Amino acid sequence: MIKPDKPANEALRLEALYRYRILDSERERSFDDLVAIAKAVCGTTMAAVTLIDVERQWFKSMQGIDATENLRSESMCGHAILQPQEIMVVEDALQDVRFHDNPVVTGDPHVRFYAGAPLISSDGLPLGTLCVFDARPQQLATDKAEALAALSRQVMVVMELRRFALDIQRHMLERNDYERLLSEYHDVLLAQNADLAEQSRTDALTGLPNRRALAAALDEAVIAVDGRDRQTCVALLDIDHFKHINDFQGHATGDRVLAELGALLRSHFAGGGLAARYGGEEFVALMPDADLRTAELQCEFLRVAVSNLPLGFPVTISIGVAQHQPGETSDQTLARADAALYRAKGAGRNRVEVAP
Ligand code: GH3
Ligand code: MG
Ligand code: MG
Repeated sequence: MIKPDKPANEALRLEALYRYRILDSERERSFDDLVAIAKAVCGTTMAAVTLIDVERQWFKSMQGIDATENLRSESMCGHAILQPQEIMVVEDALQDVRFHDNPVVTGDPHVRFYAGAPLISSDGLPLGTLCVFDARPQQLATDKAEALAALSRQVMVVMELRRFALDIQRHMLERNDYERLLSEYHDVLLAQNADLAEQSRTDALTGLPNRRALAAALDEAVIAVDGRDRQTCVALLDIDHFKHINDFQGHATGDRVLAELGALLRSHFAGGGLAARYGGEEFVALMPDADLRTAELQCEFLRVAVSNLPLGFPVTISIGVAQHQPGETSDQTLARADAALYRAKGAGRNRVEVAP
C-alpha cells in the first residue's frame, strides 16, 4: 500500500478547509442529495463527500456504507486531492499498486472501483472529494466523469453558501452583543444622570434641597392641583452674626453649625412642608396649607429650638415669615418674608417677624 503524500500547500489547504467550519458538523440534506445523484449517475453502490483533515478523512455525507471517518493514510481520496485538476479513477483497486493491499480493498467494503472528483475551494485549494465507489470493478464513461465533476462543483457551491450563512449568523450575534452592550451603557448613563440630577438639587453640606429645588417646590406649593391658590406660608431664616462664628470658632465649626441647623430643619419638616438651604447661612421653610398664625408659631418653635442646640456656644436665628397672597408670585411672597427678616434683624435679632 502506498500512503498518500501531503500536498506542497498542505498548511494553506488546511487553513482553507477550516474556514468552512464544516468538519464534524451535522448531516445536511443538500450534501446527501448531491451524493445520491452522484451515486445514481455513476451507477455505483456507494458514494460520499469526504474532506481531508490532518490525519483523517471525514465524511460529510456517505451512502452505501456506514462510516463517519477513516485514516487519511488509508484513504483513496488522500491520493485524489494530489491532482486537483483531475478526476482520479481506479477501475480495479486490486490491480493498482497503491491500493491492492489497502484495508478498504482487502476488507470491508471491499472497494474495487473508485472515482473521486476533488472539491476545490474558491482560492484553488483541494479540500476533499465527491467520490463514488463500488465492490465491483468498473469503468467511468466520459459523460459520467463530466457529471461527477459538475456535481463536485455543486458541492462547493453548497459549501460556500453554508459558510456565508454561518458568517451572517456570526455577524448577527456580534451585532446583538453590541446592541446589548449599548443598552447596558445607556442604563448606566441613565442612572448616573439620575444621580447627577439628585446631586444638583441637594445641598452637600446640609443634605437639604438647594435653591434650585426650592424654586420648583415653591411654585407647586402656592398653586393647587386645580389651579387655585393654596394657603401657603414662607419663612426666611438667617443665622445671627454668623460671620462672628466663623471668625471666632473657625470655618469648620461654622460648617458644623450649618449642618446641625440643616438636620434640625429636616426633622422638623419631615412630616410635611419643606426646608431648603437658600444660600450661605440662609434657609427657607415652606409651610403649605398653614395660616399665618400657625406658621408664626412654628417659626417661634424653631427659633427656640435653634437657641437650645447643644453646640458649645450660643447660636440664634432671625426669621421673617409671610403668607402667600392670591395673585402673588412665589418670588413676591419671598421678598415680603425677606423684608420681615430685615425687620427682625433691625429689631435686635433672635426673633420672628410676620410680614403684613
Ligand atoms: P447677620 O446677623 O446680619 O446675618 O450677620 P451675619 O454675620 O450672619 O451675616 P453676613 O452676611 O455678614 O455673613 C454671613 C457669613 O456666612 C459670611 C460667609 O463667610 C458665611 N458663610 C456663607 N456660607 C458659608 C458656609 O458654607 N460655611 C461657612 N462656614 N460660612 C459660610
Ligand atoms: Mg445672611
Ligand atoms: Mg446671618
